[in-house]
Amino acid sequence: MSQYNIPKTQSVAIVDKIGGTVHVNPQHPVRQPEDLALGECLVKMHCTGVCHTDFHAASGDWPLTANLPLIGGHEGVGEIVAIGKGTVDSPVKVGERVGIKWLAYSCLDCEMCLKGLEQNCVKAKLSGFTVDGTFAEYVVSWVQHVTPIPDNLDSLEAASILCAGVTVYRALKYSQTNASEWVVLPGAGGGLGHMAIQYAKFMGKRVIAIDTGKEKKELCKKLGADHWIDFKESKDIVKEIKDLTDGLGANSAIITAATGAAYSQAVDYLQCGGTLMAVGLPGEATIDASIFFTVYKSITIIGSYVGNRQDAKEAMRIASVGGVKCHYAKHPLSDIKEVYEELKEGKIAGRVVVELKKKD
Ligand SMILES: [Zn+2]
Ligand SMILES: [Zn+2]
Repeated sequence: MSQYNIPKTQSVAIVDKIGGTVHVNPQHPVRQPEDLALGECLVKMHCTGVCHTDFHAASGDWPLTANLPLIGGHEGVGEIVAIGKGTVDSPVKVGERVGIKWLAYSCLDCEMCLKGLEQNCVKAKLSGFTVDGTFAEYVVSWVQHVTPIPDNLDSLEAASILCAGVTVYRALKYSQTNASEWVVLPGAGGGLGHMAIQYAKFMGKRVIAIDTGKEKKELCKKLGADHWIDFKESKDIVKEIKDLTDGLGANSAIITAATGAAYSQAVDYLQCGGTLMAVGLPGEATIDASIFFTVYKSITIIGSYVGNRQDAKEAMRIASVGGVKCHYAKHPLSDIKEVYEELKEGKIAGRVVVELKKKD
């Protein structure tokens, strides 16, 4: 019934218990086409990005519980090899290249979904968290939710647009910052940050990148950051930002860094009327912002959580016209344990993408 040869077993990266180590199981079952439900599709993966969230999910340091055993991953790109029997009006077809993002499924009909907050749907299914993710050769997803990948975009290039890209794109979209205004990006050299620089520049904003180390500095400068601040070398980050912005402060801070300190500092360097976009998801950190100055300076504090289907399409379109390029290192699935270690230590500049497609 399918033009594809779908094997019965596959390799997946799996975590058996919270806090356990990730390992590869080469004999994990593949859901067969005849077992797909209405609206489901089977995707043969080409590659998948690795996100900080995968590491948090496996370590259990979030106030949410993951499905176990856990197959992580939510930045996967692959080809649809089967669609559940009886599915009508599918927006995608067999053979099409699609992406699987964090929000794998939402009901599309509840108040949150209808307001465009699909990611907050009460029935939401999360890839690599509440349902099996993309660290697998074959993944079951939903035709209404997979993201079509533009033809001119390589799968490896597209992978990290699906989480890192969408997340920072949406935060910038809602940051209430106009072209030519100043955006500060703490954590600018990391997976989310390095894409935020490019989306911000594509939108015509001016960027102050904050991070540390020579490698991250070079990456941020190369990607178009107007200014660079090394937080380990700077004596006074707030003063430096004010000096760079005619004494007024920046218009917005998009905070991808995983520490609470980055959030409270933003209220000090934002200009009156500025916007603090909270994007990173540290497990336990809190925002310790001055209420007085948040009020007095008319600061807006907004949480922005990944993105909906439309945000994903827009983020992908910007990549397809060359506005954003993911800086990534390619690894085989067998490297996954080492990749988690490096993520934990914050050593990775840009992103890691795991290649899953076997040579034909
Ligand atoms: Zn992610
Ligand atoms: Zn819903």
